Amino acid sequence: MTGSGRATALLAAAGSGQRLGAGAPKALVPLAGRPLVEWSLRALAAAERVEAIVVAAPPEAVAQLERVCGPGVHVVEGGASRSESVAAMLEDTAADLVLVHDAARPLLTPKLADAMVSELARRRELAGLVAAAPLTDTVKLARRDGIVERTLDRSTLWAVQTPQAFRALLLREALKYGDLAAATDDAMLVEQRGGKVALHEAPRENLKVTTPLDLRVADLLLSERE
Ligand code: C5P
Repeated sequence: MTGSGRATALLAAAGSGQRLGAGAPKALVPLAGRPLVEWSLRALAAAERVEAIVVAAPPEAVAQLERVCGPGVHVVEGGASRSESVAAMLEDTAADLVLVHDAARPLLTPKLADAMVSELARRRELAGLVAAAPLTDTVKLARRDGIVERTLDRSTLWAVQTPQAFRALLLREALKYGDLAAATDDAMLVEQRGGKVALHEAPRENLKVTTPLDLRVADLLLSERE
């Protein structure tokens, strides 16, 4: 096991929420009675394997996020892209293991966070571990003009989510040398440097809130949980 087998959680909450059309930072959009970011914060705070939480906020909303997060959570200014926000949060921790999570996935459970940190601590050959669900749609590769080239083998395809757990040293190195603006997740940068990344099967319910439809679905699921 690496060190204490516990991790610092890095919660990426610095997105603008433009696609949601809310006119406010997405992290602060009301969802089932609370700001969206609070759902992930509560799950991380309740996880036994999470020993500290760092949050990346939009530069103009740092004070607001500090109020929502309360004492004990360190809020830093996010960057221009998601990975730059993760890099800013990484600067703020000396932990061996980190658990990166998007505030845009409010259905996170403490159980999933704990399971992922435990598994990464145990599997020493891994650089990272990503939450993922098997695809249910058929996926086709198409040319830019819309003509299908081929159908991919669905049994080997996974929809990747957050949390993503990493050895901090290897993530730091990947973020230093990778193309941060082009990265859609952190694991991609670790993979590009030859780091071994494994999947951790997670429920599809751990959905990402991007559009108003996602917000309605998340609202329904979270209201049922309360
Ligand atoms: O934009 P996207 O949907 O990929 O955002 C995923 C997560 O990354 C969100 O939780 C968002 O707040 C966060 N993000 C960030 N800094 C940015 C852009 C996005 O922390 N510059």
